[in-house]
Amino acid sequence: MKPVDVAELDPAAELAAEAVVVGAGAAGITIALELARLGREVLLIEGGRTAPDPEIQALHELDCVGYPMRPNYLPRLRQFGGTCNLWAGRAMRLAPEDLAARPAVPEGAWPIAWDELEALYPEAERILGLPGPGAFAAETWLGRASPAERALLASGRLVPTVSLWAVRPRRFARDFADELRRSPRIRILTGGQAIGLREAAEGRRVEAVRLRTLEGRDLEARGRAVVLACGGLENARLLLLSTDRRPEGLGNGSGLVGRFFMDHPRAVWGRVELAPGALLRVLRGRPVPGGKVQLGLAVAPAIRAERGLLHHYLTLESEQSSYAREQYDVAVQVAKRLLRRGHVGARLDLRGALASRTPDLLYLLTPKEILPHWAYRLLWSVREGLPRRPRPQRYVLVHFCEQPLDPSSRVTLSDRRDALGVPMLRLDWRIQPEVVRGMEALANLLGEELERTGLGRLAPGRDEPRFTDASHHMGTTRMGTDPRRSVVDPWGRVHEVANLWLAGSSTFPSGGHANPTLTIVALALRQARRIASFSL
Ligand SMILES: Cc1cc2nc3c(=O)[nH]c(=O)nc-3n(C[C@H](O)[C@H](O)[C@H](O)COP(=O)(O)OP(=O)(O)OC[C@H]3O[C@@H](n4cnc5c(N)ncnc54)[C@H](O)[C@@H]3O)c2cc1C
Repeated sequence: MKPVDVAELDPAAELAAEAVVVGAGAAGITIALELARLGREVLLIEGGRTAPDPEIQALHELDCVGYPMRPNYLPRLRQFGGTCNLWAGRAMRLAPEDLAARPAVPEGAWPIAWDELEALYPEAERILGLPGPGAFAAETWLGRASPAERALLASGRLVPTVSLWAVRPRRFARDFADELRRSPRIRILTGGQAIGLREAAEGRRVEAVRLRTLEGRDLEARGRAVVLACGGLENARLLLLSTDRRPEGLGNGSGLVGRFFMDHPRAVWGRVELAPGALLRVLRGRPVPGGKVQLGLAVAPAIRAERGLLHHYLTLESEQSSYAREQYDVAVQVAKRLLRRGHVGARLDLRGALASRTPDLLYLLTPKEILPHWAYRLLWSVREGLPRRPRPQRYVLVHFCEQPLDPSSRVTLSDRRDALGVPMLRLDWRIQPEVVRGMEALANLLGEELERTGLGRLAPGRDEPRFTDASHHMGTTRMGTDPRRSVVDPWGRVHEVANLWLAGSSTFPSGGHANPTLTIVALALRQARRIASFSL
């Protein structure tokens, strides 16, 4: 059914359904659609509206006291469709070893078997519109690798990672609008801000989701099952805010809600110079039928296990010239103007002032985004076929890092309050020395392999790496089998509350190497099927 905004809601309307899903991002929309397909009635409640709204977006502001987050940047979006309204669309599968307890993350085991997750990935990949079957197998692309790339991987000490992009990143609100509207089982409410959960008098059940509007109107929504799909930070906040019967917050008997916050810190650190004639074909992003692929490099699992290293990977990207900063700034100004005028903004589904406040979105304005896919592929193959004078190729190393489990990296409630009168989140993000140690190990190994093969040389990063967050908010309501060491069970159900489910990367018990959204969607399908299997 068509979304109804809370401002237009009939005051007599009853907000109730078999399942109430709060948060209409990748996780919430996937769950709502799957539950409806399985015959369940769903009320999907979203705090944002169908267009950006600065006042509502401000409800996502954080009190950052730890490692700083990027300034002037939107790490999440409070809008119908969630953060996937602006995500970059890089999809990666976790590796089997990411689910295991490893020396670098001894408490990081996932309570899910690899086979089960692997079986869900193809469905999640179709939802994200990614290139077709087999595209996540590195062998598919290694057949197209250059001799230099094959030589680099020949010893097996470095292994490839695979990233895929759809032709256009999936925008859940736009791309599933028809399906959501057509479903007679889904009701959608926008502009309804969840501010906590009311626990039933007998305990162990959520009776209602408390909602508030910016105008100060309070409402309640009742579901026999309640799913919070509000993103990796907000899920924890809602539990911490639900203190009616438990001062520590709902589901927080273990004291772990908000702890173990992880992102994938990212840094440009180190350079390589490849010998003349040593070409990169698959280690640089390239268009393929149905999207784009890029291989990265990671330390082989056996070496990581032996040396207790985290699972990082790096990609090789064109080196920016010494004018880069200046050119970047000019380009940002141009991009801002274009976004404001709505040309590129409409094309990217980003309208209005919010988008123009986010200069880092510039990286979306690439030929891949602007050209039709066939033209982009043609451009690429023409460029690749052009005769080139053999000369050294320079690349920077872009590191994408896993984090160890650190209980002091966490979110708590702040003393400051938002426009709804509700405590904001205080984020204390820590980046541990093991992260840098893993980067050094990976870069050193690459340097050794370049030297061994005579393909080039590595100039290591000189100063301490300067990290940016990757907007991957993980770990704050971790999953596990032991209620003393986790917040939700292996299906995402809160240990202490029979009808409360959490969806999204807040439930990841360790971060692994992969960008999270593909796994979020895979787990959302799994969770919806589990919820539907109960008599609601
Ligand atoms: C610029 C950018 C680029 C990114 N690129 C990638 C990438 O390439 N690959 C990748 O895997 N990931 C990427 N990410 C991360 C990715 O966007 C997230 O992993 C994904 O969107 C999370 O989906 P979700 O449904 O769990 O949460 P969200 O998309 O954040 O959805 C949560 C929803 O809940 C709503 N909500 C929150 N609180 C409340 C409340 N109290 N009441 C009611 N509603 C509420 C929000 O409005 C939102 O609609 C990127 C993020 C950013 C910002």
